[in-house]
Amino acid sequence: MHEVTIDDKRFELFIDSANIAQKISETGKLIAEEYRGNNPVFLCVLNGAYVFAADLLRQIDIPAEVSFIKLSSYEGTSSTGNVQTLIGLNGELRNRHVVLIEDIIDTGKTIHDLLPRIKEKSPASVKLVSLLSKPDARTHEVTIDFTCFEIPDKFVIGYGLDYNGWGRTLPDIYTLAEDMQG
Ligand code: 5GP
Ligand code: MG
Repeated sequence: MHEVTIDDKRFELFIDSANIAQKISETGKLIAEEYRGNNPVFLCVLNGAYVFAADLLRQIDIPAEVSFIKLSSYEGTSSTGNVQTLIGLNGELRNRHVVLIEDIIDTGKTIHDLLPRIKEKSPASVKLVSLLSKPDARTHEVTIDFTCFEIPDKFVIGYGLDYNGWGRTLPDIYTLAEDMQG
């Protein structure tokens, strides 16, 4: 599909699935070489990173553990404001080599808030792999150890990323049409 429409918004094909697969294969090999013998634990940051994590981890041919974490603005029915609750971080990370798997680093705020909470579990190391990065949108400094694609500061969907809950199942990545940019 060259175009998709969700609600009031039109999106255009941006990165196709063959391109994504190629880049993920390369990135997976790099990560496998770096962590061979280290039995890393991968932490997939839900929701957006689930598709990327599934494809990436099958390209990493070393023994590893996988867990899923999620930042949630709501606890029960009452909003906790700007402080996000971290759920899913139940396992022991002490002296483990941790690799966070993210879908996209935009302003960098999410990862900036998340990293200290991982580090307080005393892991041996923490690195970050992200499918996408928007360097021009950064307001918080973040070191991304492995990035598949650096993209302009435009809203994207597909391959796990959503617009109002829709678009995650698209196999390709789409960007908001030029005439729809705010
Ligand atoms: P941050 O600004 O904290 O780096 O990114 C916060 C979150 O916003 C990301 O994890 C992602 O879920 C969402 N996000 C940022 N940019 C985009 C985008 O272009 N498309 C979609 N669907 N989500 C985005
Ligand atoms: Mg995310």
